[in-house]
Amino acid sequence: MRSPVKVLALTRNAGLNACATAMLLAAAACATNPATGQHEFSLMGEDKEIQLGQQQDVQVRKEMGVYPDQALQQYINDVGLKLAQVSERPTLPWHFTIVDVPAINAFALPGGYIYITRGILPFLDDEAQLAGVLGHEIGHVTARHSARQYSRSTASEIGLIVGSILVPQAAPMATLGQQGLGLLMLKNSRDDELEADSLGAKYAARAGWDPDGIPQMLTTLARIEEASDTKGVPNWMQTHPVAEDRVQRVQAAVRDAEQGATKFTTDHDGYMKRVDGLVYGDNPDQGIVRGSTFLHGSLRFAIDFPGGWDVTNGTSAVVAKQPGEQSLVVLEPVTRPVGRTLEQVAFYGMQRAGFTPVSGAQTTINGLDAFVGTYAGPMQNIGRVGIRAAYVVLDRHVYLVAGVAPQARYDQLEPTLSKAILSFRPLTRADAERLQPNKIALYTARAGDTWQSIAARAGNGVVKPTTLAIMNAHAAGDQPRAGERLKVVVAG
Ligand SMILES: [Zn+2]
Repeated sequence: MRSPVKVLALTRNAGLNACATAMLLAAAACATNPATGQHEFSLMGEDKEIQLGQQQDVQVRKEMGVYPDQALQQYINDVGLKLAQVSERPTLPWHFTIVDVPAINAFALPGGYIYITRGILPFLDDEAQLAGVLGHEIGHVTARHSARQYSRSTASEIGLIVGSILVPQAAPMATLGQQGLGLLMLKNSRDDELEADSLGAKYAARAGWDPDGIPQMLTTLARIEEASDTKGVPNWMQTHPVAEDRVQRVQAAVRDAEQGATKFTTDHDGYMKRVDGLVYGDNPDQGIVRGSTFLHGSLRFAIDFPGGWDVTNGTSAVVAKQPGEQSLVVLEPVTRPVGRTLEQVAFYGMQRAGFTPVSGAQTTINGLDAFVGTYAGPMQNIGRVGIRAAYVVLDRHVYLVAGVAPQARYDQLEPTLSKAILSFRPLTRADAERLQPNKIALYTARAGDTWQSIAARAGNGVVKPTTLAIMNAHAAGDQPRAGERLKVVVAG
């Protein structure tokens, strides 16, 4: 979860985009698509494309943050520029940036602004796979998918970002609060994705990387999707065709790209050294999950979610979900208009989200002023729900902690939801400073090592055995080979 100040900026974004669209409508023209050679109706000239990218780049950097590792940023930029220079649009002002986000993703803005999350880097196994991801995103820009998206969308549908590879986003509370950046991303059409995969393979091969990096990284993405499904992670928003299908579809382009070339680079060892020490998962500044407890280092609070529930730390909210059920506990910052009492903030907030108050009272939670109430109403994708919710004041912020259960199960779950709500507590400065992120380290497998034993060594809940397997380009069922150099996760 980002600080409330940053969350507010998200709301302003929607307005900015709507204005940008109105401007674009005046600039409609016919153009030849640089990557495909096809003549098409385009709303956006290249100048406008660059201008839009520049404007939104400022927003992306502010919302997501830039990963603070100069050497790694330089490395990603070097690989990206080599690919861009062999594309059909070498003269665009290309920028390649690692954003400080744990989600596994990559995306592009119009005009040549490409982003890769720090969360995807551990799941790539060599430089050719990195080139595959960056090449795919370059393909979205050169084929002007974003420009076409803009011409197809109405102002209300315009998203901030287009061209993502895979967008996992848990947002079951869309009716309750602000939407995270992920939800503002536009869906790519299936054809656009397949085209970007093919273009990526072409650019990778032209610049000297093995184009097989593309199907390899798509295989890893497919494994992540598969593992997520079996774990029952809620609402993984799929804005892309199933990656496994893309693995098959890109093969022809890979074979084309291989024509006439003698030798390609993959650079497994060099890539491994680059990601050694990378922050893995959540950062204390954005909040970290330890078991069922969520701790936020810069906002200085902690909360214990119900044991065994899946906790997802999103951009604007933290959601704990009961596995296989529709019950949730949600934590999110809310705005408090000047002069409003906590009770008024609670009442208007819940009313706006479509919920009716049943009861409520002013109280304190672990020494913090709070308004705790019970509500009922309909929720998207669940139906009628009961809600136990606290609005709690800490420093200058107000947080909503809401336990939600389908009406039929509410009475049974109420004690569990209340226990979580009442665990919200401030952290001392010393406690906050002790929080350190988990990191990627390198390890050489010994005989008898299994993903289970390596995960157990990292500590309880730090990393799942399946995640370690996928991170090291293995199918979930395989085991590591003795002597194999592996990426592992060490606890902070
Ligand atoms: Zn894509």
